Amino acid sequence: MRKQIVAGNWKMNNDLAQTEALLSDLKKQNQSSNAEVMVAPTFTNLYHAFEALRTSNIEVVAQNMHFAANGAYTGEISASMLKSVGVETVILGHSERREYFNETDELLAKKVDAALANSMRIIFCFGEELADRKSGNEEAVVGGQIKNALFHLEAAAFQNIVLAYEPVWAIGTGETASPEQAQDMHAFIRKTLADKYGNNIADEVSILYGGSVKPANAEEIFSKPDVDGGLIGGASLNAEDFYAIVNAF
Ligand code: PEP
Repeated sequence: MRKQIVAGNWKMNNDLAQTEALLSDLKKQNQSSNAEVMVAPTFTNLYHAFEALRTSNIEVVAQNMHFAANGAYTGEISASMLKSVGVETVILGHSERREYFNETDELLAKKVDAALANSMRIIFCFGEELADRKSGNEEAVVGGQIKNALFHLEAAAFQNIVLAYEPVWAIGTGETASPEQAQDMHAFIRKTLADKYGNNIADEVSILYGGSVKPANAEEIFSKPDVDGGLIGGASLNAEDFYAIVNAF
């Protein structure tokens, strides 16, 4: 049975005091849920968050990492550094990384390899831009992103990969893909995996939807058969809203 997951991407928000406040609010909300729950604070707050959530069932994950083990990469963080502060899962390929930091499929393939070599779990993000959808190219774009960054892997690697479909036009815009648009794309993604690795692998990989998920729309999106959870940006910065989304399962 594939896992249901709700992950909050805090992006470049929250200094230490704000992080402490949000962690404390989350702990108050934290109850047993049907979904695995994760939060991704900034690098500087990862250790603090890990310690604060140690006794909870919320996993602390990273927003990014470098592919190299160490060395002359000023400003970067490696997989082993993340692991040394308790982080076992990393988000890779977020559209903001692709857009503002020029992360290509080729670079992401290297990051994927480095994370897996360090026994980390990956939430791998991808999604089309508005122009791609308007021109009917959304499946070609999404299929290409998945193949280019992931299809060099052995099937067993997918035990440690969660996919996150995030149409760029829906991220932080207030505009959400309709539940039907999300389901259609998730079904396409699962078929793309099945064609390459077979149905057993495709059926086990969790595929999250991201893009302006809110308490008001989460239940309908999560009710779709191929949507296994959400990657949540803005709404994850408020513990009550975030848990309303978690509890939509
Ligand atoms: C995200 O950043 O991954 C995201 C989905 O953001 P938002 O929920 O704010 O659209």
